[in-house]
Amino acid sequence: MNANLYTLFRSRFPQDLNDCWLETDDAKYYSWRDLERGTAKIANLFASLQLPAGSRIAAQVEKSPEALMLYLATVRAGFVYLPLNTAYRASEMEYFIGNATPAVVVCSPKNFGWITQIAFRAGTRHVFTLDEPHQGRNSGTLLSRAVHHADHFDTVHREPDDLAAILYTSGTTGRSKGAMLSHDNLASNIRVLQDAWHWKKGDVLLHALPLFHIHGLFVAAHGALMNGSKTIFLSKFDSATVMRHLPRATVFMGVPTYYVRLLSDPALDHDVCKNIRLFVSGSAPLLTETFETFINKTGHTILERYGMSETAMLTSNPYQGPRKAGTVGPALSGVSVRVMNQEAQVCGTDEIGDIQVSGPNIFKGYWQMPEKTAEEFTEDGYFKTGDVGRVDADGYVSIVGRSKDLIISGGYNVYPKEIESVIDEVSGVLESAVIGVPHADFGEAVVAVVVMRDGATLSEVALIDTLKNRIANFKVPKRVHFVAELPRNTMGKVQKNVLREQLG
Ligand code: AMP
Repeated sequence: MNANLYTLFRSRFPQDLNDCWLETDDAKYYSWRDLERGTAKIANLFASLQLPAGSRIAAQVEKSPEALMLYLATVRAGFVYLPLNTAYRASEMEYFIGNATPAVVVCSPKNFGWITQIAFRAGTRHVFTLDEPHQGRNSGTLLSRAVHHADHFDTVHREPDDLAAILYTSGTTGRSKGAMLSHDNLASNIRVLQDAWHWKKGDVLLHALPLFHIHGLFVAAHGALMNGSKTIFLSKFDSATVMRHLPRATVFMGVPTYYVRLLSDPALDHDVCKNIRLFVSGSAPLLTETFETFINKTGHTILERYGMSETAMLTSNPYQGPRKAGTVGPALSGVSVRVMNQEAQVCGTDEIGDIQVSGPNIFKGYWQMPEKTAEEFTEDGYFKTGDVGRVDADGYVSIVGRSKDLIISGGYNVYPKEIESVIDEVSGVLESAVIGVPHADFGEAVVAVVVMRDGATLSEVALIDTLKNRIANFKVPKRVHFVAELPRNTMGKVQKNVLREQLG
């Protein structure tokens, strides 16, 4: 059997290939036949280049249906896809291209000059361009070359453990590492999600996430492909555009920031969401306040799930059954999640420790970093996620933070999430981030960075006094900094490394 992931998706295409596969926000329609033929042409182009087996094909391109086809064509042709965040600049691209040594790089026409120089220095022989297709403008050399190739392609045979993609982690400490994901890692995970989230005939996905990250690519886009479902494909998240398309969709996935933005639109109500059967949130913690306000305004309970580039999805709140605010739900079928204490024993109920995971979805290791890979796995084969959390009596996992964000102050462990939750309850506070900064006496001192609600007047002294009544002294921040907004990356994660640099 051919374990190529594309073969799995191909087996799920609707009977009638003329059905709509993607509809874009500028009202362009692509059929499943367009997908099959478009990926065949690009795959044939890659085959004609006679690339070595296992070649990486790196792409730093704007979101477009063709960008999604580029990914699928790469997998179909048996190569390894390497998506890169469109925000990366020259020094970052130099690192990724130098590290992954891709045989092909695809970039936006506007970046062609400097990316070509970087790519050629790293030994890459082929650089193509792909632009968002604009009317009357050339959409780049990849498509203008591919168009001359045949629209039939026999999907290359792959074994389950062969690599399909390398995702570079966000690298908030040290250099970013390339997580190697196999065809089976991705196939097994999307099979499980298909069941867990009750994908059904007639579903329409509203896709607003970027394509260079696991959430938009392996959870959202894969979900619709696996179900043979139509996707309304937005080039980016924009609350007004999402609102316009929501009434025709049944499934929506977003990072927490998307939900916060949707909630700030006065037009969001039950009626706009009447056809939606599933709202999914992930990639960063969903605040309980967002979760509850969303229920009040729309009648929908957002389903929060947890995963990471190295593992694909690990846990999910249930489709049927209680979705608990502030938790990421129980382990998905076939995935084992355990929380371990300092003595390498499994923690009791609600006891905080390190989250470790195993399952068919766990990656094959970090690209060309066998030692780092070995360090991140336990002797019995569990991957150390670097997340700290706990499991409640019903098996629901809660994430308390990243282990590297743990603050050790005067010998005591301080979990930032716990302090953030207490601060967020203080009236006048919109949100907060708690970090540790070097301190002569305590080793590290707890410091809070707080965003106030509009019109609120809070002082550092008053906030610290309030907290002294609510939490143990060693957890109370020594300093509070008020800021207009927290620094976040494109996936909505608060960049604590940036705060530590600014305040450390
Ligand atoms: P990435 O590899 O960029 O997807 O980042 C993975 C990390 O995001 C995880 O290790 C978690 O720290 C965090 N994360 C993902 N989903 C959630 C969630 N639902 N709640 C809290 N943190 C999350």
